[in-house]
Amino acid sequence: MNCKTTTTPDSQRRPLENFKEPNPLSTSQQPIVIYNGRGAGGPVSEGDCACPRTLSPQRLEAANENALLHGEALHPVAAQTVSLPPYVALASPQSWASVAVLNKPAYLLWQMLGREMQPKEAFRCIGVDPEADSSREVLLALYRSGFLRKKTDTPLPLAVQDTLMAWLHVTNACNLRCSYCYLHKTNVSMPPSVGRQAIEAVFRAARQHGYRKIKLKYAGGEATLNLPLVLELHD
Ligand code: SF4
Repeated sequence: MNCKTTTTPDSQRRPLENFKEPNPLSTSQQPIVIYNGRGAGGPVSEGDCACPRTLSPQRLEAANENALLHGEALHPVAAQTVSLPPYVALASPQSWASVAVLNKPAYLLWQMLGREMQPKEAFRCIGVDPEADSSREVLLALYRSGFLRKKTDTPLPLAVQDTLMAWLHVTNACNLRCSYCYLHKTNVSMPPSVGRQAIEAVFRAARQHGYRKIKLKYAGGEATLNLPLVLELHD
């Protein structure tokens, strides 16, 4: 049994890796997967990504849930990984949840399943009892969130989007001090000329890709500290 895994190179790590909020889950050796399951089967929630989103989660009949562990091979969908020690975030427009946060054992499990390893074998590699209820739950979470698929699964339908959404980071300044903030705050703000160029680029992209509406969101720092620019861009 080859249990070797890969790790994210330092060069691919993002600034968020400095996030060090104490969390009791971080010391657990049990694999843990957290994803947003809201709206399952309901309308598509608003996302910040212009990529098409899947319309419905992968559903399993109760009788088939147990078969996940023993049945046909499961495959990870292609996903971007972001290191947030001690967690890893997965992001993929091909998954229903779009984003999931995994602790290290869950991430190792997900990686091993990508090497055609059977779930039982992968669980053993990370030192976890494959027959435990928690193992079944973790596999279900990865499957329901769409980060694992069976070869026989039909592709999920994609939502047709007619709105292109864009975030404009109008200032790096903020008058608050949230404990979880990862932004390196400075007094730098977006100059009006850059804002106008950004708006033109968003409209150009919308026309080019057939979007009918545009939604702008303003971020910072605290965006209202650059309110004159926000008002000007809407003028
Ligand atoms: S930038 Fe956002 S998270 Fe950071 S201190 Fe300001 S409001 Fe809080």
